[in-house]
Amino acid sequence: MNTEKIIETAEEKLIHTYNRYQIVLDKGDGVKLYDTNGKEYLDFGAGIAVFALGYNNKEYNDALKAQIDKLIHTSNYFYNEPAVQAAEAITKASGMDRVFFTNSGTESIEGAIKLAKKVAYLKTGNTDHEIIAMNHSFHGRSMGALAVTGNKHYQEAFGPMIPGIKFAEYNDLDSVKALVNDKTCAILFETVQGEGGIYPAKKEFIEGVRKLCDEKGILLILDEIQCGMGRTGSMFAFQQYGVKPDILTVAKALGCGVPVGAFLATEEVAKALVPGDHGTTYGGNPLACAAAVKVFELFEKQHVLENVKTVSTYLEEQLDKIVADYEIATDRRGMGLMQGLELTINPKDVIAAALDNGLILFSAGTNVIRFVPPLVITKSDVDEMIIKLRKSLDSVQ
Ligand SMILES: *Cc1c(COP(=O)(O)O)cnc(C)c1O
Repeated sequence: MNTEKIIETAEEKLIHTYNRYQIVLDKGDGVKLYDTNGKEYLDFGAGIAVFALGYNNKEYNDALKAQIDKLIHTSNYFYNEPAVQAAEAITKASGMDRVFFTNSGTESIEGAIKLAKKVAYLKTGNTDHEIIAMNHSFHGRSMGALAVTGNKHYQEAFGPMIPGIKFAEYNDLDSVKALVNDKTCAILFETVQGEGGIYPAKKEFIEGVRKLCDEKGILLILDEIQCGMGRTGSMFAFQQYGVKPDILTVAKALGCGVPVGAFLATEEVAKALVPGDHGTTYGGNPLACAAAVKVFELFEKQHVLENVKTVSTYLEEQLDKIVADYEIATDRRGMGLMQGLELTINPKDVIAAALDNGLILFSAGTNVIRFVPPLVITKSDVDEMIIKLRKSLDSVQ
């Protein structure tokens, strides 16, 4: 199929849930993507914070190929070695005790919600528990995850939402305290809000919520689907705050492209789920888990966390200069290689201009350009990105 035919057929056959750029991506190498016309793009989106190791990583590809030739799928009624290795790696990296593997972020949230509800049910015998989530949050598109996503626009047509969800203001401890009552079973938020506009949690907020949870016997669920897996410079963002969640959700970069997510819990919490309570056909299959195992291995071997720390400092400096130089750029915020540049205008024209200039960027919220590149980028990739970004900003001024 030629490029035009691909786009035309896609618009005819795919359910139209995305307004796509008129580009057909064909292959990737390192931090570069190529379209079907051979045009090169520097990728500062990484498939929305997924492809942490860069494209066409030989060791990663070889590990997947070897697993494909061995065993792709079994069922969770049997053990398989990659799932056990992945479980060891992710519990060690997060300090959590137990894990359940899923196929996506939204499923990780579903599992986290069910686990929190079961813990509360075992404690009280009641099923009228409440969860406090945050305004401007994003947790996924399935009905449970949608119910805790603090964005009326996403929910509107799909009611009724599951009951018992309340929304507080992110980074506003008093607004959380005001919603707590005897029915509250969990407080859920992203350690760094992603889709909402790249807002890191304030230290006082996350510490305050942890303390509140401890006092009242409430579970703290941290969603690190986007900000986890090394993106902020530590394996998980919460590790920089010195607090620990009771339940943690992970996905996006966990398999670096192979669909795999997870929810993790402390031993105390995890034991609430027993056979029959939760399940998945694909979740934790040998192929997905072989990918996750390799990702953890390559993170160490390629010193990914160290790279994030050094390159992100440089990226922050360069973005701060843009804030100083451009009137339409009003703020830069983020943690590690999860950065946002706030604009006074809708970012979509800048993002379109960037694509013309061979740079892939995504937006977050209504006025933020999001930078979530592969975690293996170098300073010279940042330099190239900044040149292209400045050119794109110049063209919309
Ligand atoms: C992307 C994302 C999700 C949903 O993940 P999917 O794999 O798209 O279902 C949930 N929470 C956060 C913070 C995310 O960034």
